[in-house]
Amino acid sequence: MVPGRRLAILGKQGAGKGTQAVRLCLHYVIPHISTGDIFRAAVKSGSDFGRRAKQYMDAGELVPDGVVIGMVRERLAADDARNRGFLLDGYPRTIAQAGALDEMLAPRGLDLAVDIEIRTDVALKRLAGRRVCVDCGTNYSTDKPPTVDWLCDVCSGKVVQRDDDTEAAITRRLVLYEEQTDPLMAWYERTRRLVSVDGEAEADTVTFRLTQAIDFHMSARGARPC
Ligand SMILES: [Zn+2]
Repeated sequence: MVPGRRLAILGKQGAGKGTQAVRLCLHYVIPHISTGDIFRAAVKSGSDFGRRAKQYMDAGELVPDGVVIGMVRERLAADDARNRGFLLDGYPRTIAQAGALDEMLAPRGLDLAVDIEIRTDVALKRLAGRRVCVDCGTNYSTDKPPTVDWLCDVCSGKVVQRDDDTEAAITRRLVLYEEQTDPLMAWYERTRRLVSVDGEAEADTVTFRLTQAIDFHMSARGARPC
């Protein structure tokens, strides 16, 4: 157990980011801080940034960078993140957000951006095969269907493909992700903080690759105390 890691996880949809995020947090004993959680916490706390974010979300608009950054700053100032480190999930999305993150974590900044790589056609295949129970949300896939006739093993609900999981919609999301994230990854690469791991394997193997790569990079950089 090595506490104190300050990580951000990247990876396109279908890369298994959610699964690996949970595992990395258990391994390094750090809180998993997703943008969804940050938004909910900020709105609930009624902070200035939370109230402003809610106005945008209620109007169905994108929350602007300044407000997102403000909410992240509030969350990272909490004791758990300050003392133990964290794994950020869904942030940063832009170089501006990454710069603001280093500023709020100064002088040490973010330790590493961790990217789980899979080819776009592999992601597409995984996502197109996803199926979900309409009643309880249990996930299945065309490779691992429920036992009986597309009825949920847990609750017998109907197991279907989500509306936004059509091939055209998935492709659009993947292209958008790359356009947005490529410059960000290049930026972390330039500052020698990008760890890329091959995500086309069983979850256990990917977890092993991730922890190996993270620990290697941290020791190579001379891990600083937190
Ligand atoms: Zn179900």
